[in-house]
Amino acid sequence: MDESVPPTVLTTRNLDGIAEYIRDGKARTITVMVGAGISTSAGIPDFRSPDTGLYANLARLDLPYAEAVFDIDYFREKPEPFYTLAHELYPGKYRPTITHSFIRLLHDKGSLLKLFTQNIDCLEREAGVPGDKIVEAHGSFARQSCIECKSAYPQEEMREHIEARTIPRCHGCNGLVKPEIVFFGEALPSAFFDNRHLPEEADLCIVMGTSLSVQPFASLPQLAQQGKPRILINQEVVGGLGSRPDDVLLLGDCDTGVRKLAKACGWLEELEALWAATAPKEAAEPGPEKTKDEKLEDEINKLTAEIDESLNLSKWHQEKVRGSLPSLLPKNSSPESDQQPNSSGSPSFDNVLHHDPNGNLGHVFLANARDDGKGKKDSDE
Ligand SMILES: [Zn+2]
Repeated sequence: MDESVPPTVLTTRNLDGIAEYIRDGKARTITVMVGAGISTSAGIPDFRSPDTGLYANLARLDLPYAEAVFDIDYFREKPEPFYTLAHELYPGKYRPTITHSFIRLLHDKGSLLKLFTQNIDCLEREAGVPGDKIVEAHGSFARQSCIECKSAYPQEEMREHIEARTIPRCHGCNGLVKPEIVFFGEALPSAFFDNRHLPEEADLCIVMGTSLSVQPFASLPQLAQQGKPRILINQEVVGGLGSRPDDVLLLGDCDTGVRKLAKACGWLEELEALWAATAPKEAAEPGPEKTKDEKLEDEINKLTAEIDESLNLSKWHQEKVRGSLPSLLPKNSSPESDQQPNSSGSPSFDNVLHHDPNGNLGHVFLANARDDGKGKKDSDE
């Protein structure tokens, strides 16, 4: 950001300038654009990190490559890995972050025009942002339908299947059912295109926790009008934010950033109260039940057992296949090395979720895709 360029609308080109703009009632309509970076502090697992159990768990599911879990063709053949993942990520297991509550606060203040999220975790909804204010650009677990006849499937039955790790089938045509999460190769929801004009109408644009590396979402902040301030709350500068005279950068983690912004607006207490209300009820109710730690330990033991089970199954499966079909398996056959997604020369379709050419799952889970040739660095989150 070239700070020597004077702002045209803000009094000062910093957090205080944005807060003053809001306090003066100039930000009557606000669009917010977010990515996985607002959910990492909620504990939503980071796929790419080899350290997370989830990644290791996926590796044990015999996926040809990690993204296969979000590949519609692979899903048709083998839906089980996706449902194992869905079991881990299904809404209800994670608490919204204070950043999610901040978006809710903007709504309560009457100024949230629209939230555009790349996240599928539904934490914005759980923080109390109404569904009609949210564009889930990459879909979410909020709805599910048959992949063949497109019939809607009941939420409660879906929840039961995901809990039980069984595969739901369409009541009409017996086709596979999946949550309306946008898989690679699938078109974005029409809601994305129907609301794409809104950034241009807003008085303020807030971008948080996204690497803006996945199109067409990444182009949304550019649609904000010249002369309307934009603020980026993120670990790093992305998407050309900072290039306009009324852009403000607030680098660092999102939760710290929104607390600073809320404080400058005089909203911090209100924000903390909203967030406190998202705390799980068990934690607040004393009783003869198990303590939180005991429950956590139970959960960990259960997960460990499940992982061990998949590992054993997977080994058993491999041995069985290798034992019975030795001549069909090339010596160097490795699930990780020989079936990378083909991204070279693939056409760009503006309405279709783009495959990340570096083969990560940043479009869903990670705030800051850093594998643009500069090397991986996951330890500083
Ligand atoms: Zn069907």
